[in-house]
Amino acid sequence: MRTRFAPSPSGYMHVGNLRSALFAYLISKHEGGEFILRIEDTNQNYYESGAEEFIYQVLNDFGLVFDEGPHRPSEYGPFIQSERFDIYKSYAEKLVKNGSAYYCFCDKTTLHTKRLEAEENQTSYMYDKTCLDFPKDEAMRRIALGEKYVIRQKVLPEGQTSFKDLVYGDVTIRNQDIEDQILIKSDGMPTYNFANVVDDALMGITYVTRGVEYLSSTPKYLLLYDALGFPRPEFVHLPHVLKENKTKFNKRNKDADLRDLLEHGFLPSAILNCIAFLGWSPKTNREFFTLEELVQEFSIEGIHKRPAIFSMSKLKWFNRHYIKVMDDTSYLQFIRPFLEAVYNLEGMSEEWISTLLLTFKERISFGAEIGFVTHSFFENEIEYDEDCIQFLQSDARIKIVLERFKYYVLSVDNWNKDTILTVINNTGRDVNVSGTLLYLPIRVALTGLLQGVDLVTTLYLLGKDTILERLGS
Ligand code: GLU
Repeated sequence: MRTRFAPSPSGYMHVGNLRSALFAYLISKHEGGEFILRIEDTNQNYYESGAEEFIYQVLNDFGLVFDEGPHRPSEYGPFIQSERFDIYKSYAEKLVKNGSAYYCFCDKTTLHTKRLEAEENQTSYMYDKTCLDFPKDEAMRRIALGEKYVIRQKVLPEGQTSFKDLVYGDVTIRNQDIEDQILIKSDGMPTYNFANVVDDALMGITYVTRGVEYLSSTPKYLLLYDALGFPRPEFVHLPHVLKENKTKFNKRNKDADLRDLLEHGFLPSAILNCIAFLGWSPKTNREFFTLEELVQEFSIEGIHKRPAIFSMSKLKWFNRHYIKVMDDTSYLQFIRPFLEAVYNLEGMSEEWISTLLLTFKERISFGAEIGFVTHSFFENEIEYDEDCIQFLQSDARIKIVLERFKYYVLSVDNWNKDTILTVINNTGRDVNVSGTLLYLPIRVALTGLLQGVDLVTTLYLLGKDTILERLGS
């Protein structure tokens, strides 16, 4: 089995693109087959610099290693379409020769006018085959004179074309509804519609996996396979991946751009696990899968037809899990740069930094969140919101708790978790309070927050000096 991922470097990869790559990879690897990368850069007007390199980086970082592709040559290469122009041209000429394609000299303005007329009459536009029966030697003469032309597929109107998609089932289109589409443009470049057929066939792709938006075009591609004598591959069309508001992702708008997710500290393992469910379900209700486990479990039968919705909250949920199960050393390595990016850690001990970071290990959903959740340990001045102010004034004993607490803090020489616990207990005993009335005044007064990590750890991390400062010494 050979599958391929065929991205266009017209923008940076988003989660939808990664889903296509992942499914093509899984379908092939489940059967021990090959996964091929092909760069579809025939439309140079839409080339975004850096996007191609990012494709290589993503496939590498996410472990979707391709067996053949750019920089991994094989007898099926080259794998970058802009390096294959001569190939497309020669196959188009072959089609002209065997009567399955023809030269067309219709100029853009005439075609545009015809299209507008069709729109005005509210009929659907299709090329009207003006050049279909143009005598061949006349065509050759005009080409020799330097006239601009395109090469069009010749579709005979009789009959129909059918195939069975492995996800969407039987698809049939009447040939009279298939346009004589352009195969080679007037600048000599192939269209996607032609290049994908030539490439998939010559690269030996046995299972073509791609977005469902190509489903209705597949019959016209099949006519090209037939005309060129290529064997028809299997087709696996994948459901749309939509945003939560049910609209499509757009590479050019940088929606769910993978760069953003990676920069914010979403882990490749979590992203992969999350997007595996965008259009696929396993046989059980198991939720966590490594890439290797997905390879084992994946099956084409598990792919759905209905559009999949990418949910940021679901991704956070997966990411939180993957952060939680990281070993402490890897976690510290991963998370520290996110803290350093927002706070100056100069003068803080290594032990303090690690304790702080580990305290929040199970409380963050993505790397960059560490800056938000730890802010009360770095702020110079605490701001109390309405709820905090109300709480601090809600009971006369609160003031006394804070006074006694301060008294005991002042008496401590060695600030550690044991001495902190003693300070809290002594305070409770003196004022005769326990539970919320003991802990919450201290927490709120020192952090401006009604909730947080365990109080002893909070006090330990704040340190004696900061605490006294915040209590207004
Ligand atoms: N190059 C196309 C795209 O990026 C993919 C087409 C295909 O997979 O056949 O949308």
